[in-house]
Amino acid sequence: MNNFILLKKITKSFSNNKKINVLKKINYSFKKGKIYSLMGPSGSGKSTLLNILSMIDKPTSGSLLIDNDAIDFDNNTNNDKIRSNKIGIIYQQNNLLPDFTALENVYLAGLALNNDKNNSIEKAKKMIKKMGLSSREHHFPSELSGGEMQRIAIARALINEPEIILADEPTGSLDQKTAKEVFATLYNLKNKNRLIIYATHNRFFANMADCKLEMIDGNIKTINARIK
Ligand code: ADP
Ligand code: MG
Repeated sequence: MNNFILLKKITKSFSNNKKINVLKKINYSFKKGKIYSLMGPSGSGKSTLLNILSMIDKPTSGSLLIDNDAIDFDNNTNNDKIRSNKIGIIYQQNNLLPDFTALENVYLAGLALNNDKNNSIEKAKKMIKKMGLSSREHHFPSELSGGEMQRIAIARALINEPEIILADEPTGSLDQKTAKEVFATLYNLKNKNRLIIYATHNRFFANMADCKLEMIDGNIKTINARIK
């Protein structure tokens, strides 16, 4: 039940010199309350898929339904709204703004949904506290460790309390110990109203998920599913 994100025959091709079909008629349904890991070799289309789920990129054909709403990929204004309301995104490189402090990086993301600065600062402080980084609020990204930067990026992704969290190799540039801590943080975000999907190269982290997926030849293969 509860098909929170539904993919119907999603296809994505790129044509530069020669045409490549990256995603080939993917049908899949992601459920609320679950965590999915997505593995697959480099170049298999993990980022391409996540970028379509976050509506940053548009499929060549097929349809995407989020919470039963069919996404119109040409309606950027509306999609920006859906994204700020519902989706938190975490990348491999944390993408924090270098000239802004940790607190500013987090609260600025909050303004996308609600233009109330004081309210956003308050929420940002709460999120940063949750990440155990209150003492780093006024540090600039260059003054944070890799793990701290990534936890601030998670706080930023969470400021609008998204129902969907998409993470593209979130610990790809961290050592194993720090990566474990970041994954523990990510797993703490699991709740029954939230869907979390992350791409990873790391089998250990992939195995933590409720449902392990692999991109094989342009399609999603379920490796194991504890989900009914
Ligand atoms: P992964 O995240 O699994 O490593 P990607 O989704 O980044 O894989 O890429 C899948 C394939 O699509 C690769 O062959 C990549 O070169 C190609 N690709 C991705 N984005 C573009 C683009 N904007 N233009 C052309 N080719 C692209
Ligand atoms: Mg990728």
